[in-house]
Amino acid sequence: MKNYVLVTGGAGYIGSHTCVALAAAGYTPLILDNLCNSSAKVLDRLATISGAAPRLIEGDVRDRALLDRVFAQEPVQAVIHFAGLKAVGDSVVDPLLYYDNNVNGSLVLAAAMRAAGVRTLIFSSSATVYGEPDESPIPESAPTRPANPYGRSKLMVEECLGDLYRSEPGWRIALLRYFNPVGAHESGLIGEHPQGKPNNLMPFVSQVAVGTRPELVVHGGDYPTPDGTGVRDYVHVMDLAEGHVAALRHALAQPQALLTVNLGTGRGCSVLEVVQAFERASGRPVPRTIGPRRPGDVPAYWGDPAAAAEVLGWQARRTLDQMCADSWRWQSGNPEGY
Ligand code: NAD
Ligand code: UDP
Repeated sequence: MKNYVLVTGGAGYIGSHTCVALAAAGYTPLILDNLCNSSAKVLDRLATISGAAPRLIEGDVRDRALLDRVFAQEPVQAVIHFAGLKAVGDSVVDPLLYYDNNVNGSLVLAAAMRAAGVRTLIFSSSATVYGEPDESPIPESAPTRPANPYGRSKLMVEECLGDLYRSEPGWRIALLRYFNPVGAHESGLIGEHPQGKPNNLMPFVSQVAVGTRPELVVHGGDYPTPDGTGVRDYVHVMDLAEGHVAALRHALAQPQALLTVNLGTGRGCSVLEVVQAFERASGRPVPRTIGPRRPGDVPAYWGDPAAAAEVLGWQARRTLDQMCADSWRWQSGNPEGY
């Protein structure tokens, strides 16, 4: 019985949480990760949460010979492809690195899958493919105009996979456009641990609350939003993880399919709302100052989650307070990460 799900990038933030959700749903995750932005220590934590650690194959998705061996030796029924680089700023500085890792990596993976006859693929895309939207909530039909190499790398992979789907029958491909994943597993054993200074809001706020950083700089207080700060669609990482299981289950039930689906809550929260929720969850103050706008930032956007509900039967269930409480449990229990 082919029940392995190959999870590329499965040692990382979203991938590790998805391994928990896969195991809970009766699938057997098999991780392929080069550990360039994660630690093998996550496996012990996954064993504690799920009762057994997934196997880790340490290697790169661009290594075709390795992928051929994995598909020849392991009973893989589907692939969830998280492996990629995700720092927008770094992608501007070194676009070739991003195109090689994210685009070339996905093409090598897809070619190895085709050769092995494994045609079910769930791909980590991003709401960043929309760029600055005309309106929110953003439906999947909105124009795509990514504003940086990272976003373009995601859109290029979406387009390549669409062409692959149309080139031969039998492919089942889901392109999942995530909004802003935050939070951690409720055990507090796994979570997000960015290297160096965090770029993203929630890890930064957590580090201020735990005392690693003195204060949060709010990037802009004069946006045309209710409190003047930027608005995003924050989605709990365990909801997101369950969204992958829903997409996998749906894909496996179709003779063939190409889906493009937003994974978000459909609700926007401002920077100050997040900060206040975090103060409530942690019982700690989060000192902040209002700074200038961050170049390239979109003032406000959130996703339309209707297609995910209709097609996948998936809906985000966890609240902003839960996102903050779970982030805090992870951060306060693991201030140095893994
Ligand atoms: P992450 O960095 O925690 O996880 C990515 C994992 O992939 C890491 O464990 C890393 O070691 C591994 N990896 C990177 N390149 C690899 C390669 N060439 N071969 C093998 N392993 C490799 O990031 P994450 O937040 O878990 O993101 C997972 C995916 O979701 C990424 O593709 C990212 O672009 C996408 N995404 C993330 C967000 C977000 O805000 N976190 C939003 C939208 C989309
Ligand atoms: N933000 C902030 N201070 C920070 C990091 C982020 O005010 O130190 C704001 C940012 O301007 C945006 C929101 O928080 O309005 C979410 O930013 P993040 O980088 O987490 O996500 P993205 O902008 O990529 O959606």
